[in-house]
Amino acid sequence: DKIQEERLKYLTDTKGIKAVTVLFSDLEGRLHMLDYDKKFLVNSYDNLTFDGSSIRGFTAQKESDLRLGLDWNAFYWTPSDVFGTGKVMVFGEVIDKNGAPYAADLRGILKQYANKMYDEKGYTLNAANEVEGFLFEGVDAERSYHKTGSFEYVNAGGYYHSLPGDPLREFIDTAAEVQRAMGFENEKDHPEVAPSQFEINYTYGDVVSAADQIQLYKLICRQVATQMGMTASFLPKPVTGVNGSGMHTNVSITKDKKNLFFDKAGEENMSDLAWSFIDKILTHGNDICLLLNSSVNAYRRLDPHFEAPNQIKASATDRGSMVRIPIGNEKSARVEVRSVGPDANPYGVLYSVFKTGLDGQVGNIENLRQAARYLPDNIYTAIENFQGSEWITSLLGSDVKERFAELKKASADRCPRLLGTVVKGSEVQFH
Ligand code: GLU
Ligand code: MG
Ligand code: MG
Repeated sequence: DKIQEERLKYLTDTKGIKAVTVLFSDLEGRLHMLDYDKKFLVNSYDNLTFDGSSIRGFTAQKESDLRLGLDWNAFYWTPSDVFGTGKVMVFGEVIDKNGAPYAADLRGILKQYANKMYDEKGYTLNAANEVEGFLFEGVDAERSYHKTGSFEYVNAGGYYHSLPGDPLREFIDTAAEVQRAMGFENEKDHPEVAPSQFEINYTYGDVVSAADQIQLYKLICRQVATQMGMTASFLPKPVTGVNGSGMHTNVSITKDKKNLFFDKAGEENMSDLAWSFIDKILTHGNDICLLLNSSVNAYRRLDPHFEAPNQIKASATDRGSMVRIPIGNEKSARVEVRSVGPDANPYGVLYSVFKTGLDGQVGNIENLRQAARYLPDNIYTAIENFQGSEWITSLLGSDVKERFAELKKASADRCPRLLGTVVKGSEVQFH
């Protein structure tokens, strides 16, 4: 197609580019990167294969060869001081033997769903994620946590409060500058409520780009922090007693440029479509919880005392609610799903939120929007709910559903246990 032709020509004509980094994510959301020599890629882009057997959640040994397609719309220039010289990035999509999107590559599944909604209904699915993280001393703070038992803040911080020149402020400035260089449209950034915590906001995009940008955001932050001798951590609750990190997921749907979630006459200025979306999310809250909160550590964050949501309800004001309706106008009206950890697979998060909000059921639950129902307080219960859910089978298929549950069970079982509770932060994942 046209964009592919343009990109290939651009790559060929641009002498300074020597390699193309192809990015894809495993079933748990860990980002993988594969560098192809430019000339090789230009000649062989339609026949790229790789061994999927060592990628978590991908193929069993016997069927390990997978094909990698390139999504030329998801093409990024990379600043060379951070990513090395002469490289550009493009997101890949994993294709199975029959040429269909590979079921465990949730990016492909999300894209397929977004395209289907556009073709069938003219819907564009939009998302904006508020990804929070912590900055800790030392390049390998997450690993060395196991030895020292604690993380070291880089500053005492405070909401919106850091002096210029402070390491946290310098980190935020540098990461935001890298984002801008890569085409993110940044909006605002600030130190968050907990010490050494940060958040960098950028504008919304179509679901697939939004999920790609989450992966890039975390990559940029990790890389910039490492270059400064520090660690950017996206553990949901690295430190007890202070706020954790969320990945609030703001979603809306547009058709012919009109925001379908807005209705001046509706409750909270939200349309019937928006309210039915919310009701379906609340109905299936326990089903999809594991996709939104995928680690042992994520369940330590879900505590309303720290502005983190464990109540399956909707509210305009209560930050302990799974769904919040932020004040908005015609342009910004949206649904905010708050019960999401920054270490979840972003493609799985956006796919499950949209498909549930659109195609899910509204349960026969009395006072659904305000009922006293709670998300699980530990990952084992979340895994049980997930495995027992027919809705999840229809989302992922039984094979991928089982693989995901197995991976989550294995990581939970790796946690050392002390007096019946999981040791704080013990399951550190490097997403
Ligand atoms: N850090 C809080 C959380 O865990 C959110 C604070 C905020 O509303 O920005 O979700
Ligand atoms: Mg925040
Ligand atoms: Mg928010």
